[in-house]
Amino acid sequence: MPDSRDAVIVGGGIGGVSAALALSHSADFETIRVLERSDEFGEIGAGLQLAPNAQHALEALGIGAAELDRYAFRPGRLVMLDALSGEVITALDLGAEYERRYGKPYIVMHRRDLLDLLVDAAKQRANVELCVGQTVSGVQDEGTRAVARTEQGVDHVADLVIGADGLRSTVREQVVGDPAPVPSGYVSYRGTLPFDHVAELAGGRDVLVWAGPGMHLVQYPIRRGELYNQVVCFRSDRFDTGHSDWGLPDEIDEHYAEACAPVRASVELISRDRHWKMVDRDPVENWVRGRLALLGDAAHPMFQYVAQGACQALEDAQVLGSVLGAQPDIDAALVEYQRLRVPRAGRVQRTARSFGELLHLEGMGATVRNRLLEARAHDDYSESDWLHGHR
Ligand SMILES: Cc1cc2nc3c(=O)[nH]c(=O)nc-3n(C[C@H](O)[C@H](O)[C@H](O)COP(=O)(O)OP(=O)(O)OC[C@H]3O[C@@H](n4cnc5c(N)ncnc54)[C@H](O)[C@@H]3O)c2cc1C
Repeated sequence: MPDSRDAVIVGGGIGGVSAALALSHSADFETIRVLERSDEFGEIGAGLQLAPNAQHALEALGIGAAELDRYAFRPGRLVMLDALSGEVITALDLGAEYERRYGKPYIVMHRRDLLDLLVDAAKQRANVELCVGQTVSGVQDEGTRAVARTEQGVDHVADLVIGADGLRSTVREQVVGDPAPVPSGYVSYRGTLPFDHVAELAGGRDVLVWAGPGMHLVQYPIRRGELYNQVVCFRSDRFDTGHSDWGLPDEIDEHYAEACAPVRASVELISRDRHWKMVDRDPVENWVRGRLALLGDAAHPMFQYVAQGACQALEDAQVLGSVLGAQPDIDAALVEYQRLRVPRAGRVQRTARSFGELLHLEGMGATVRNRLLEARAHDDYSESDWLHGHR
């Protein structure tokens, strides 16, 4: 090992803070500095589903079941329902057999609770520096070092600069240089309610995914079951007709008018003050350029439809820490990181796209989907093995 190595991480979301922990635990870094542009470490939005693959990664970062259980909720099943008829299409049991198979349960939690756990853990590490109010305006690879320059005019030079700066990553511009992400025409509204307010509507202990033509609704309890999380997603007709302003709140009710009564009643409760336009990017093969490396949404922005964006960021962090820990040569470690992570994350990105198409089918397509999926056993894990069972 060299005498000392240091790293700068651009972005302090789930990916960036996990990467700091991973480097702190596994690799011999003297300083790991996280530069976050916001004035505090925080998450916008509410619920997060964390499959066992994410929890194995979290465990390697020092966040085990005891910490997660303080905030998480363990759903009983993942259930897909028809948003028009209200009928159950299929389900995946998440009980004892699932947990035995994958070595961890399926959990859901408030994303703020997860970030707080990660930030608290990072604060305990002597070699991690967490810096807020630092917007990185540009990065540069310099062969054996890399530089992250902030809007405040400071150059942070390190052996390695990791871009964990999300969907519209500044670091990615230098590493990949691909065009900006293109909107899909889908928009999401998300929010939480006290569980008591929705007890009659809520699907109890299950994660519910209501699939409908060009729309879906996701619901599940979070924060030990005290809150109920909802994501309302639909394809905007205004986007299809070329309006620049699309996905606005007045389109919601119109879009869900034909849905079954529980879906309409749930959608009425969604907060309308903020929305997210759904974008992803094509998978790419190069996440590394010299001493610049990408991680999380900066490397593999994906639709949320298989609930794996944060899970994949956690896998990235764990693998990056482990290859840097095993390999004194940073360049060789980054090649190994890319070799291990690019195919898997790309497969998850593509799967998220296809699963979205499946959810949003209409007419005959939806009828065929329902008939085929109705026949699946609820303890048939053959489709989830590669995704949830990955270590
Ligand atoms: C509706 C919805 C539901 C989802 N549900 C799930 C789910 O159930 N399970 C799951 O695993 N994933 C889910 N995801 C995906 C998940 O939220 C993301 O994949 C994950 O948050 C990505 O983490 P990240 O740290 O890579 O990026 P981000 O969370 O985007 O963090 C990037 C950070 O970098 C900072 N930053 C950006 N630019 C700069 C800069 N220039 N300088 C300094 N700082 C900068 C930002 O402020 C931010 O803090 C969902 C996404 C959506 C939209």
